[in-house]
Amino acid sequence: MTPTLEKIRNFIDGQFVGPTGDRFLDNIEPATGMPYSLVPDSDGRDVELAVVAAEKAFADWSKTTVAERSRIILSIAELIDRDLEKFARAESIDTGKPLALARKLDIPRASSNFRFFATAILHTENEAHVMDDVAFNYTLRQPRGVVGLISPWNLPLYLLSWKIAPALAVGNTAIAKPSELTPMTAYLLCEICQEAGLPNGVLNIVHGTGSNVGSAITAHNKVGTISFTGGTVTGRKVAEAGAPLFKKVSLELGGKNPNIIFADADLDAAIAGSVGSSFANQGQICLCGSRIFVERPVYADFVARFVEKTAQLKLGDPLETGSDQGAIVSQTQLDKVKFYVNLAQKEGGTIASGGKAPPAPNERCKDGYFFPPTVITNLPVGCRVNREEIFGPVVTITPFDTEDEVIAYANDSEYGLASSVWTQNLTRAHRVAERVHTGTVWVNCWLVRDLRVPFGGMKQSGVGREGGNEALHFFTEPKNICIAK
Ligand code: NAD
Repeated sequence: MTPTLEKIRNFIDGQFVGPTGDRFLDNIEPATGMPYSLVPDSDGRDVELAVVAAEKAFADWSKTTVAERSRIILSIAELIDRDLEKFARAESIDTGKPLALARKLDIPRASSNFRFFATAILHTENEAHVMDDVAFNYTLRQPRGVVGLISPWNLPLYLLSWKIAPALAVGNTAIAKPSELTPMTAYLLCEICQEAGLPNGVLNIVHGTGSNVGSAITAHNKVGTISFTGGTVTGRKVAEAGAPLFKKVSLELGGKNPNIIFADADLDAAIAGSVGSSFANQGQICLCGSRIFVERPVYADFVARFVEKTAQLKLGDPLETGSDQGAIVSQTQLDKVKFYVNLAQKEGGTIASGGKAPPAPNERCKDGYFFPPTVITNLPVGCRVNREEIFGPVVTITPFDTEDEVIAYANDSEYGLASSVWTQNLTRAHRVAERVHTGTVWVNCWLVRDLRVPFGGMKQSGVGREGGNEALHFFTEPKNICIAK
């Protein structure tokens, strides 16, 4: 007998409710390729209910004292910490990522997001501009109302909470939509919000596809603020939907990040860091360095040692201890990875490691979506594999001879999200960092995240910045008040 699958429900006005159309989608566990729960296939009617609830809640929540909002949001952080294991397991099952990674990265970061913004609002300052004898001005930053928050599948709770926390902390109410591929931790978060005493309607979560739910949120005339993280093609649709209504829109989009290794780098650190930046979360982090450039004198040594270290990564059942690499999120994404690995060979590339489907890690995972970490060399810099975002465990390595040359390679991309530079020459580090066109440049490190810094991309990697004051400003409307003396 087929077991009954758990039905995830929407969270609207503080209640768990099924979708109005009573339709559900299979939620597949990537490690097994089998549905393990059902996610609401909601539509515009559910978004409408959420908007009504959020509008109603805004009247009180926007007037709730900063101390009280901070207290409730801190309590959400504490409850996530309490339930870390439950959340980490859910995230691992939903995404295919190793449980150890969800435990170490995703869930702690989600609680940090809430804690960070719950305390940030206790320390804000308002600008004042004094005019000699005439008047003085001060800037009031007020919440914008009902905001729409849309996030992708790769870091589900991490990225959704990165939006929910600042939005709510400054007094907005929200309609959030997690990816339909990874809805589970957003669902669990709602239980925690109830327990923390978050008033009804302050956070509403509507599950479903981008074309039904996402577009209903972005098109809704009462949702004047949209914070979106996802692919560049979708980001363009979000921008198009928002433009005629003059919405305030933040877009965190794709990347094709360069990772530059100079011959004077600490090679052990550069290799360890680059293996991490290439393959963490099966390469499905927007910040992963997918194009590695190595200065020619150390190129051969780097490639050999990089390949050796890559081969040591254990691909396994995400729920088993010791698995460094889990499953790819979906069949579609796995097909995309395979397509680009084939294309790389047609474009003249050499597969230095990986490249074809591995044996199933165990019986449970025999139909799962696995692909090994793959290293490709000998590709022309301007080929498709080096230009298009793959978003999987695939990295290319290319030699270079001069600093100018590698900066040109790094910048020869329509994306501009993040980069890494490995060198022990401090002057060069500053010089290169200034010239690389990316929103973040890491020097001798990768994915070190201080939640106060501006985070976001240049060019087609996005518009706007998240993090710290950038987020507090994005989710508020500055108003100048001018008082005559
Ligand atoms: P995606 O663009 O397919 O989907 C992202 C979200 O948008 C999902 O919730 C989806 O349902 C929704 N959506 C789809 N169509 C929509 C529409 N027409 N209107 C409104 N919403 C819609 O992206 P994905 O495949 O889930 O995630 C992978 C992408 O996200 C990669 O390109 C990656 O680089 C990017 N990403 C960027 C960052 C960043 O911070 N810059 C972080 C993580 C992921």
